[in-house]
Amino acid sequence: MNRPDEPAADGHSRPGESSEGPYRTWPRPPVETLIGRALRLRCPRCGAGKLFRGWFTMHERCSGCGLKFERAPGYYLGSTYVNYGLTAVLLLFGYVFLHFRLGWTNQQLRVPLVTFCVAFPVLAFRHARALWLAMDCRWDPALMSSEED
Ligand SMILES: [Zn+2]
Repeated sequence: MNRPDEPAADGHSRPGESSEGPYRTWPRPPVETLIGRALRLRCPRCGAGKLFRGWFTMHERCSGCGLKFERAPGYYLGSTYVNYGLTAVLLLFGYVFLHFRLGWTNQQLRVPLVTFCVAFPVLAFRHARALWLAMDCRWDPALMSSEED
């Protein structure tokens, strides 16, 4: 049996089980912490739980704090914009550097840049989702409370 000031056996505080009140609130981490957790594919709220159990498959909840990763149907649609933006910016800088700095012709750039445009979004899929969730934790205070789990 838990003492009133201890979290439940599964590590989550529930109404009436904590001396802090019915719901636990996590401190909002600074932006650099959120980005670091996203790059390490960790939960943005606690930094402990892994986001993914496979290349494309996410855990349902954080093993550290219980945050529900699938917030709503279609929640991660926004991460495609993150992925698209990263791809476009890197493509632009890559093209400018290779074409104007190193003198590669458009004919020489066609295959490597098309390959990049196909491969990079697949490779960045998990990080785009992690960044999307981190941005949501930054701007939606409700995500930092177990009330919204
Ligand atoms: Zn967590």
